[in-house]
Amino acid sequence: MQEVELRKNNEEFIQKVKDEDPAFFDELKKGQSPEFFVLSCSDSRVSPSVITQMPLGKMFVHRNIANQVALEDESFSASLYYALKHLKVKKIIIKGHTDCGGVKAAWFDNDEEALQGWLAHVRISLPDNNEGQNITIDELTKVNVIKQVQHLKEHPIYKAFGRNVEVIGCLFHVESGELERL
Ligand SMILES: [Zn+2]
Repeated sequence: MQEVELRKNNEEFIQKVKDEDPAFFDELKKGQSPEFFVLSCSDSRVSPSVITQMPLGKMFVHRNIANQVALEDESFSASLYYALKHLKVKKIIIKGHTDCGGVKAAWFDNDEEALQGWLAHVRISLPDNNEGQNITIDELTKVNVIKQVQHLKEHPIYKAFGRNVEVIGCLFHVESGELERL
């Protein structure tokens, strides 16, 4: 897609939104009050608001490779804090997906230097791959999401500000479009 197409698509987007609701952007500029905080993989095929048809203003989203909850990650911690303390989101969704390149890279011992710091986070969420277990990549993507739900519930910011905020793990199936609740 060329840059000119991005601009054209944006113009079409504005028109479509205004056709449905002429006051939409006037409301939008007043502020955000999203119901969901979503942690998603960065993969270009799994955009949370696209796959759930959520309009602007409904989802506060943080994305990283393989949807990791890492204590040392200041960017994620800040997003989580803001979502809970200030936006007062009602639900947290951790959304992994099948065919996740981040999970595959961690599992198959990718050795690219620039990725190692991040893949170390992913590896601690996966079983020991030296044991030759008969586990598929899609099963591993599920294990990864379940681990991140655990990590989130143990996160000090969640413990401090997330009382009564439900945490839901989901797996998006890129082969079918289905969003599976785990
Ligand atoms: Zn991924």
